[in-house]
Amino acid sequence: MNHRVTKLQAWMKENGVDVSFVSSTENVFYLSGFFSNPHERLLGLAVFQEEEPFLVCPGMEVHDVKASGWNHEIIGYSDIQNPWELVHKSINKRIHNVRKVAIEKEHMNVERFEYLTALFPNAAFVSAEEKLRQLRMIKDSKELKIIEEACALADYAIEVGCSEIEEGKTELDVLNAVEYALKKKGVTEMSFSTMVLTGANAASPHGNPGAAKIQKGDLVLFDLGVVVDRYCSDITRTVAYGDINEKQKEIYDTVLKAQLAAIEASKPGVTAAEVDLTARRIISDAGYGEYFPHRLGHGLGISVHEYPSMTETNQLVIEEGMVYTIEPGIYVPEVAGVRIEDDVYITADGVKVLTKFPKELQII
Ligand code: MN
Ligand code: MN
Repeated sequence: MNHRVTKLQAWMKENGVDVSFVSSTENVFYLSGFFSNPHERLLGLAVFQEEEPFLVCPGMEVHDVKASGWNHEIIGYSDIQNPWELVHKSINKRIHNVRKVAIEKEHMNVERFEYLTALFPNAAFVSAEEKLRQLRMIKDSKELKIIEEACALADYAIEVGCSEIEEGKTELDVLNAVEYALKKKGVTEMSFSTMVLTGANAASPHGNPGAAKIQKGDLVLFDLGVVVDRYCSDITRTVAYGDINEKQKEIYDTVLKAQLAAIEASKPGVTAAEVDLTARRIISDAGYGEYFPHRLGHGLGISVHEYPSMTETNQLVIEEGMVYTIEPGIYVPEVAGVRIEDDVYITADGVKVLTKFPKELQII
Protein backbone atom coordinates (compact mmCIF):
# COMPACT_ATOMS: atom_id res chain seq x y z
CA MET A 1 0.00 0.00 0.00
CA ASN A 2 1.38 3.45 -0.76
CA HIS A 3 2.19 5.63 2.26
CA ARG A 4 -0.51 8.21 1.51
CA VAL A 5 -3.25 5.58 1.62
CA THR A 6 -1.66 4.14 4.77
CA LYS A 7 -1.84 7.54 6.46
CA LEU A 8 -5.50 7.87 5.54
CA GLN A 9 -6.15 4.37 6.92
CA ALA A 10 -4.44 5.28 10.21
CA TRP A 11 -6.77 8.28 10.50
CA MET A 12 -9.77 6.05 9.69
CA LYS A 13 -8.83 3.61 12.46
CA GLU A 14 -8.42 6.42 14.99
CA ASN A 15 -11.80 7.82 14.07
CA GLY A 16 -13.78 4.64 13.46
CA VAL A 17 -14.33 5.36 9.78
CA ASP A 18 -15.24 2.16 7.88
CA VAL A 19 -15.02 3.51 4.33
CA SER A 20 -13.54 6.65 2.80
CA PHE A 21 -15.03 7.39 -0.60
CA VAL A 22 -12.84 10.02 -2.27
CA SER A 23 -14.22 11.49 -5.48
CA SER A 24 -12.38 14.68 -6.47
CA THR A 25 -9.89 14.49 -9.33
CA GLU A 26 -7.17 16.00 -7.12
CA ASN A 27 -7.58 13.74 -4.11
CA VAL A 28 -7.98 10.60 -6.22
CA PHE A 29 -4.72 11.57 -7.91
CA TYR A 30 -3.00 12.33 -4.61
CA LEU A 31 -3.90 8.95 -3.15
CA SER A 32 -3.75 6.69 -6.20
CA GLY A 33 -1.44 8.36 -8.72
CA PHE A 34 -4.22 8.28 -11.33
CA PHE A 35 -5.30 11.65 -12.74
CA SER A 36 -8.56 12.03 -14.59
CA ASN A 37 -11.16 14.66 -15.10
CA PRO A 38 -14.20 12.44 -15.73
CA HIS A 39 -16.58 15.41 -16.20
CA GLU A 40 -20.08 14.22 -15.24
CA ARG A 41 -19.05 10.58 -14.92
CA LEU A 42 -18.19 9.03 -11.58
CA LEU A 43 -14.57 8.72 -10.45
CA GLY A 44 -13.94 7.43 -6.98
CA LEU A 45 -11.50 5.74 -4.68
CA ALA A 46 -12.76 3.58 -1.83
CA VAL A 47 -10.36 3.04 1.06
CA PHE A 48 -10.98 0.66 3.98
CA GLN A 49 -9.22 0.22 7.30
CA GLU A 50 -7.78 -3.17 6.34
CA GLU A 51 -9.32 -4.45 3.12
CA GLU A 52 -7.98 -3.76 -0.34
CA PRO A 53 -8.94 -0.34 -1.75
CA PHE A 54 -10.58 -0.06 -5.16
CA LEU A 55 -10.87 2.62 -7.79
CA VAL A 56 -14.02 3.15 -9.84
CA CYS A 57 -13.76 4.97 -13.17
CA PRO A 58 -15.28 5.09 -16.67
CA GLY A 59 -14.44 1.79 -18.43
CA MET A 60 -12.48 3.52 -21.16
CA GLU A 61 -9.99 4.74 -18.56
CA VAL A 62 -9.17 1.37 -17.00
CA HIS A 63 -6.06 1.01 -19.13
CA ASP A 64 -4.81 4.43 -18.03
CA VAL A 65 -5.37 3.56 -14.38
CA LYS A 66 -3.18 0.47 -14.76
CA ALA A 67 -0.54 2.51 -16.60
CA SER A 68 -0.51 5.03 -13.75
CA GLY A 69 0.79 2.34 -11.41
CA TRP A 70 -2.40 1.62 -9.44
CA ASN A 71 -2.15 -2.10 -8.67
CA HIS A 72 -5.33 -2.70 -6.69
CA GLU A 73 -8.83 -3.44 -7.93
CA ILE A 74 -10.24 -1.24 -10.69
CA ILE A 75 -13.95 -1.12 -11.46
CA GLY A 76 -14.65 0.17 -14.92
CA TYR A 77 -18.23 0.85 -15.93
CA SER A 78 -19.83 1.48 -19.30
CA ASP A 79 -22.08 4.40 -20.13
CA ILE A 80 -25.14 2.16 -19.78
CA GLN A 81 -24.24 0.76 -16.36
CA ASN A 82 -25.01 2.30 -13.00
CA PRO A 83 -21.58 2.59 -11.33
CA TRP A 84 -23.16 2.76 -7.87
CA GLU A 85 -24.42 -0.80 -8.16
CA LEU A 86 -20.87 -1.94 -8.90
CA VAL A 87 -19.53 0.15 -6.01
CA HIS A 88 -22.10 -1.42 -3.72
CA LYS A 89 -21.11 -4.96 -4.74
CA SER A 90 -17.42 -4.29 -4.28
CA ILE A 91 -17.93 -2.80 -0.84
CA ASN A 92 -20.18 -5.70 0.18
CA LYS A 93 -17.45 -8.14 -0.82
CA ARG A 94 -15.24 -6.43 1.76
CA ILE A 95 -17.28 -5.23 4.73
CA HIS A 96 -20.81 -5.23 6.12
CA ASN A 97 -22.71 -3.03 8.51
CA VAL A 98 -21.00 0.20 7.53
CA ARG A 99 -21.45 2.76 10.33
CA LYS A 100 -19.22 5.64 9.34
CA VAL A 101 -18.33 6.85 5.84
CA ALA A 102 -15.90 9.70 5.08
CA ILE A 103 -16.63 11.70 1.94
CA GLU A 104 -15.52 14.99 0.43
CA LYS A 105 -18.47 17.05 1.51
CA GLU A 106 -17.38 20.10 -0.45
CA HIS A 107 -17.06 18.09 -3.62
CA MET A 108 -19.84 15.52 -3.57
CA ASN A 109 -23.12 16.53 -5.17
CA VAL A 110 -26.57 15.81 -3.78
CA GLU A 111 -27.40 13.08 -6.30
CA ARG A 112 -24.30 11.09 -5.40
CA PHE A 113 -24.89 11.63 -1.73
CA GLU A 114 -28.39 10.20 -2.15
CA TYR A 115 -26.90 7.07 -3.75
CA LEU A 116 -24.48 6.69 -0.87
CA THR A 117 -27.13 7.15 1.80
CA ALA A 118 -29.22 4.48 0.06
CA LEU A 119 -26.23 2.13 0.00
CA PHE A 120 -25.39 2.75 3.67
CA PRO A 121 -28.68 3.46 5.43
CA ASN A 122 -27.17 3.10 8.91
CA ALA A 123 -24.06 5.18 8.32
CA ALA A 124 -23.04 8.60 9.54
CA PHE A 125 -21.21 10.71 6.98
CA VAL A 126 -18.15 12.64 8.05
CA SER A 127 -15.79 14.88 6.14
CA ALA A 128 -12.60 13.44 4.70
CA GLU A 129 -11.45 16.87 3.55
CA GLU A 130 -9.72 18.08 6.67
CA LYS A 131 -7.43 15.03 6.78
CA LEU A 132 -6.70 15.13 3.05
CA ARG A 133 -5.87 18.83 3.27
CA GLN A 134 -3.45 18.16 6.10
CA LEU A 135 -1.75 15.40 4.14
CA ARG A 136 -1.48 17.46 0.95
CA MET A 137 -0.25 20.53 2.83
CA ILE A 138 3.14 18.95 3.56
CA LYS A 139 5.05 18.32 0.36
CA ASP A 140 7.66 15.59 -0.02
CA SER A 141 10.92 16.06 -1.89
CA LYS A 142 9.49 14.65 -5.11
CA GLU A 143 6.59 17.09 -5.06
CA LEU A 144 8.95 19.98 -4.28
CA LYS A 145 11.12 19.13 -7.25
CA ILE A 146 8.12 19.18 -9.61
CA ILE A 147 6.85 22.48 -8.19
CA GLU A 148 10.33 23.96 -8.65
CA GLU A 149 10.20 22.99 -12.31
CA ALA A 150 6.77 24.60 -12.66
CA CYS A 151 8.14 27.74 -11.00
CA ALA A 152 11.13 27.90 -13.35
CA LEU A 153 8.72 27.86 -16.31
CA ALA A 154 6.64 30.58 -14.67
CA ASP A 155 9.80 32.72 -14.39
CA TYR A 156 10.45 32.09 -18.05
CA ALA A 157 6.90 33.14 -18.91
CA ILE A 158 7.36 36.48 -17.15
CA GLU A 159 10.63 37.00 -18.99
CA VAL A 160 8.87 36.42 -22.32
CA GLY A 161 6.01 38.70 -21.26
CA CYS A 162 8.39 41.55 -20.45
CA SER A 163 10.17 41.17 -23.78
CA GLU A 164 6.83 41.38 -25.62
CA ILE A 165 5.70 44.69 -24.12
CA GLU A 166 5.46 47.38 -26.78
CA GLU A 167 3.48 50.54 -27.39
CA GLY A 168 0.09 49.68 -28.88
CA LYS A 169 0.16 45.93 -28.30
CA THR A 170 -2.92 44.65 -26.54
CA GLU A 171 -3.07 42.59 -23.37
CA LEU A 172 -4.15 39.61 -25.46
CA ASP A 173 -1.24 40.08 -27.90
CA VAL A 174 1.23 39.74 -25.03
CA LEU A 175 -0.72 36.91 -23.41
CA ASN A 176 -0.76 34.90 -26.65
CA ALA A 177 2.98 35.35 -27.11
CA VAL A 178 3.64 34.13 -23.57
CA GLU A 179 1.51 31.02 -23.94
CA TYR A 180 2.89 30.29 -27.40
CA ALA A 181 6.45 30.40 -26.03
CA LEU A 182 5.45 28.04 -23.21
CA LYS A 183 3.80 25.60 -25.57
CA LYS A 184 7.01 25.49 -27.58
CA LYS A 185 8.70 24.39 -24.37
CA GLY A 186 6.22 21.55 -24.02
CA VAL A 187 3.83 23.13 -21.52
CA THR A 188 0.32 21.80 -22.08
CA GLU A 189 -1.59 23.47 -19.29
CA MET A 190 -1.64 26.70 -17.31
CA SER A 191 -2.58 26.72 -13.61
CA PHE A 192 -5.43 29.16 -14.44
CA SER A 193 -6.30 31.65 -17.19
CA THR A 194 -3.22 33.78 -17.75
CA MET A 195 -3.59 37.42 -16.81
CA VAL A 196 -1.92 40.32 -18.58
CA LEU A 197 -3.43 43.59 -17.42
CA THR A 198 -2.30 47.08 -18.27
CA GLY A 199 -2.92 50.54 -16.87
CA ALA A 200 -6.32 50.95 -15.24
CA ASN A 201 -7.11 47.24 -15.72
CA ALA A 202 -4.22 46.25 -13.46
CA ALA A 203 -6.02 48.03 -10.64
CA SER A 204 -8.57 45.18 -10.53
CA PRO A 205 -7.30 42.18 -8.52
CA HIS A 206 -9.09 39.71 -10.79
CA GLY A 207 -9.36 41.57 -14.09
CA ASN A 208 -9.85 40.01 -17.51
CA PRO A 209 -7.28 40.53 -20.28
CA GLY A 210 -8.71 41.97 -23.45
CA ALA A 211 -8.18 44.55 -26.15
CA ALA A 212 -6.71 47.27 -23.91
CA LYS A 213 -3.53 48.66 -25.45
CA ILE A 214 -0.29 49.11 -23.57
CA GLN A 215 0.79 52.73 -23.33
CA LYS A 216 3.84 54.52 -21.98
CA GLY A 217 3.46 55.17 -18.27
CA ASP A 218 1.44 51.99 -17.67
CA LEU A 219 2.08 49.45 -15.00
CA VAL A 220 1.63 46.03 -16.61
CA LEU A 221 0.62 43.15 -14.33
CA PHE A 222 1.29 39.51 -15.20
CA ASP A 223 -0.30 36.77 -13.12
CA LEU A 224 0.18 33.24 -14.40
CA GLY A 225 1.13 29.71 -13.52
CA VAL A 226 2.35 26.61 -15.27
CA VAL A 227 1.33 23.01 -14.61
CA VAL A 228 4.09 20.39 -14.57
CA ASP A 229 3.23 16.76 -13.83
CA ARG A 230 -0.11 17.89 -12.31
CA TYR A 231 1.48 20.47 -9.96
CA CYS A 232 0.91 24.20 -10.28
CA SER A 233 3.07 27.29 -9.99
CA ASP A 234 1.69 30.81 -9.54
CA ILE A 235 3.61 34.05 -10.04
CA THR A 236 2.72 37.72 -10.32
CA ARG A 237 5.00 40.49 -11.46
CA THR A 238 4.13 44.11 -12.13
CA VAL A 239 6.46 46.01 -14.43
CA ALA A 240 6.60 49.59 -15.69
CA TYR A 241 6.41 50.53 -19.35
CA GLY A 242 8.39 53.73 -19.64
CA ASP A 243 8.43 56.27 -16.85
CA ILE A 244 5.80 55.95 -14.18
CA ASN A 245 4.80 58.67 -11.74
CA GLU A 246 5.83 59.09 -8.10
CA LYS A 247 2.54 57.75 -6.77
CA GLN A 248 2.87 54.54 -8.82
CA LYS A 249 6.46 54.15 -7.62
CA GLU A 250 5.44 54.64 -4.01
CA ILE A 251 2.74 51.97 -4.37
CA TYR A 252 5.22 49.58 -5.98
CA ASP A 253 7.80 50.13 -3.25
CA THR A 254 5.20 49.56 -0.53
CA VAL A 255 4.04 46.26 -2.04
CA LEU A 256 7.62 45.09 -2.46
CA LYS A 257 8.53 45.99 1.11
CA ALA A 258 5.46 44.11 2.39
CA GLN A 259 6.22 41.10 0.20
CA LEU A 260 9.85 40.86 1.31
CA ALA A 261 8.86 41.22 4.96
CA ALA A 262 6.32 38.39 4.67
CA ILE A 263 8.97 36.14 3.09
CA GLU A 264 11.33 37.02 5.94
CA ALA A 265 8.60 36.23 8.50
CA SER A 266 7.83 32.81 7.00
CA LYS A 267 9.31 29.94 8.98
CA PRO A 268 8.19 26.95 11.02
CA GLY A 269 6.45 27.89 14.25
CA VAL A 270 4.83 31.18 13.23
CA THR A 271 1.13 31.31 12.39
CA ALA A 272 -0.33 32.01 8.97
CA ALA A 273 -1.95 35.08 10.56
CA GLU A 274 1.39 36.48 11.68
CA VAL A 275 2.78 36.16 8.17
CA ASP A 276 -0.26 37.86 6.64
CA LEU A 277 -0.21 40.63 9.23
CA THR A 278 3.50 41.29 8.69
CA ALA A 279 2.69 42.40 5.15
CA ARG A 280 -0.68 43.93 5.98
CA ARG A 281 0.76 46.25 8.65
CA ILE A 282 3.34 47.65 6.23
CA ILE A 283 0.64 48.37 3.67
CA SER A 284 -1.72 49.85 6.28
CA ASP A 285 1.03 52.01 7.81
CA ALA A 286 1.72 53.43 4.35
CA GLY A 287 -1.95 54.41 4.14
CA TYR A 288 -3.07 51.76 1.65
CA GLY A 289 -4.77 49.26 3.99
CA GLU A 290 -8.17 49.58 2.33
CA TYR A 291 -6.61 48.90 -1.07
CA PHE A 292 -5.28 45.46 -0.08
CA PRO A 293 -8.60 43.57 -0.16
CA HIS A 294 -7.46 39.95 -0.22
CA ARG A 295 -5.51 37.43 1.86
CA LEU A 296 -1.74 37.34 1.65
CA GLY A 297 -1.63 34.02 -0.17
CA HIS A 298 -2.64 30.39 -0.45
CA GLY A 299 -1.16 26.93 -0.45
CA LEU A 300 -0.13 25.53 -3.79
CA GLY A 301 0.24 22.03 -5.17
CA ILE A 302 -2.05 19.78 -7.19
CA SER A 303 -4.58 22.61 -6.91
CA VAL A 304 -3.59 26.19 -7.55
CA HIS A 305 -5.46 27.18 -4.38
CA GLU A 306 -5.07 24.76 -1.52
CA TYR A 307 -4.06 24.87 2.12
CA PRO A 308 -2.73 26.69 4.11
CA SER A 309 -4.89 29.76 3.58
CA MET A 310 -2.71 32.75 4.47
CA THR A 311 -5.26 35.01 6.12
CA GLU A 312 -4.94 37.48 8.97
CA THR A 313 -7.09 35.27 11.23
CA ASN A 314 -5.73 31.79 10.46
CA GLN A 315 -3.95 30.49 13.58
CA LEU A 316 -2.55 27.48 11.71
CA VAL A 317 1.11 26.98 12.57
CA ILE A 318 3.49 27.00 9.62
CA GLU A 319 5.51 23.79 9.22
CA GLU A 320 8.44 22.56 7.21
CA GLY A 321 7.29 21.17 3.85
CA MET A 322 4.46 23.65 3.24
CA VAL A 323 4.33 25.50 -0.08
CA TYR A 324 2.38 28.73 -0.33
CA THR A 325 2.21 32.00 -2.21
CA ILE A 326 3.06 35.42 -0.82
CA GLU A 327 1.19 37.95 -2.91
CA PRO A 328 0.32 41.28 -1.34
CA GLY A 329 -1.22 43.87 -3.64
CA ILE A 330 -2.42 47.45 -3.67
CA TYR A 331 -5.16 48.42 -6.11
CA VAL A 332 -6.07 52.10 -6.25
CA PRO A 333 -8.69 52.64 -8.96
CA GLU A 334 -7.46 54.92 -11.77
CA VAL A 335 -4.02 55.24 -10.10
CA ALA A 336 -2.24 51.90 -9.99
CA GLY A 337 -2.57 48.20 -9.45
CA VAL A 338 0.48 46.39 -8.16
CA ARG A 339 0.82 42.82 -6.96
CA ILE A 340 4.00 40.83 -6.44
CA GLU A 341 3.68 37.09 -5.93
CA ASP A 342 6.20 34.39 -5.17
CA ASP A 343 5.84 30.73 -4.28
CA VAL A 344 7.79 29.67 -1.20
CA TYR A 345 8.72 26.33 0.36
CA ILE A 346 9.13 26.20 4.14
CA THR A 347 12.47 24.73 5.19
CA ALA A 348 13.65 23.73 8.68
CA ASP A 349 14.44 27.33 9.60
CA GLY A 350 13.02 29.64 6.93
CA VAL A 351 11.99 29.60 3.31
CA LYS A 352 13.21 28.72 -0.09
CA VAL A 353 11.75 31.13 -2.65
CA LEU A 354 10.84 29.03 -5.68
CA THR A 355 9.95 31.77 -8.17
CA LYS A 356 12.99 33.83 -8.96
CA PHE A 357 12.19 36.52 -11.53
CA PRO A 358 13.62 39.86 -10.23
CA LYS A 359 11.35 42.02 -8.11
CA GLU A 360 13.10 45.39 -8.09
CA LEU A 361 10.98 47.59 -10.36
CA GLN A 362 11.61 46.64 -13.98
CA ILE A 363 11.30 49.61 -16.31
CA ILE A 364 10.83 48.49 -19.90
MN1 MN B 1 -1.36 34.39 -9.02
MN1 MN C 1 -1.94 33.14 -6.20
